[in-house]
Amino acid sequence: MKPKSTGDLALIKKINTSIVLDSVIQHAPLSRALISEKTGLNKATVSSLVQDLIDSHLVLEIGPGKSSGGRKPTLLLFNEKAGFAIGIDLGVNYIKGLLVDLSGNVVADNYRKLKPKQTEEVLKTLTEAIDELILKAPESEYGIVGIGIGVPGIVDDQGTILFAPNMKWRHVELKRLLEDRFKVPVTIDNEANAGAQGEQKYGAGRDIPNQIYVSVGIGIGTGIILNSELFKGSSGFSGELGHLSIQYDGKPCSCGNNGCWELYASENALLEQAAPTGLESLEELLQAAEDGDERVRSLFSNIGTYLGVGIANIVNVFNPNVVIIGNRMSRAAEWLSPAMQAAIDQRTLPYHRDKLRILFAELREQSAVRGAAYYAISEFFTKIKSL
Ligand SMILES: [Zn+2]
Repeated sequence: MKPKSTGDLALIKKINTSIVLDSVIQHAPLSRALISEKTGLNKATVSSLVQDLIDSHLVLEIGPGKSSGGRKPTLLLFNEKAGFAIGIDLGVNYIKGLLVDLSGNVVADNYRKLKPKQTEEVLKTLTEAIDELILKAPESEYGIVGIGIGVPGIVDDQGTILFAPNMKWRHVELKRLLEDRFKVPVTIDNEANAGAQGEQKYGAGRDIPNQIYVSVGIGIGTGIILNSELFKGSSGFSGELGHLSIQYDGKPCSCGNNGCWELYASENALLEQAAPTGLESLEELLQAAEDGDERVRSLFSNIGTYLGVGIANIVNVFNPNVVIIGNRMSRAAEWLSPAMQAAIDQRTLPYHRDKLRILFAELREQSAVRGAAYYAISEFFTKIKSL
């Protein structure tokens, strides 16, 4: 179809610009001729779009590449330092922050402990953490392009935290508060969704279409990626599998249900069960397991079984390629794995088990904060491509 109006032409130009930019981001260093070859756009169009991208500082030219006969072509690079983004993992008892460039490379980081506190105090600490990262950003064309935040709770599509049971937060308009303060776009999502995004973009889940990320920390949350897209449900609330009922007459949960998965398979569950040993942190328990303490090893094994039971349910529902276990408990991989795998083998349907792989987060405890930063970058690109 022939474009009829300037509106059509402008739209086509936007689409083509975004195709060219993606091609540079994915394949750099490369020449204009190679972009033309890879995208099917003609050379004149590519040249003009590349010039626009150079003018807007998103693409850089570097010295000539190898010639295949004639004049040596100039190679193009994505200018990943044209702007910077901030990622925050707002935990129940910590705030982890990253400053990243537009490729998601980590430039600076910070960490603050949080005691269970009033919302006001948490917001103050959060603001300080962000301010500190902003100060560390090098000079750049676009400056800070956005802030992404993963939070341990249910977030609506307006970036309002509706409910964060482990933090005892209700209805906090975090996106609005932070946009007022920092004057840049802020993206808020559940920490498990952020973790899923982080692992899919930079970690164990790269190039895997169907993956379930299970964040095992103080509670349990899950991020569901289907056909390479984060599945958010009709209101953005999907993935609360930590509240899957696995013990129908079990312990009461802060969510109002009984017998929720996270009461039996989280870091909190481990610490509760470990009380008689006198060991009070995951770090101490890991050390004891390492030192051969059989009692502690069997505690991990018990948690592993419960993890496996919940994962088996997830596998039977979603038939994923991989399940990725992340957040703090991924550090106990060695001690959780045997019992967890046994429970999964015993409880999944054989067809579902066939191609299934269980992995631990490659980014370790950075899955959520890297994913949060990616939200900010991806929001920036969406905006740039629609200019
Ligand atoms: Zn619950």
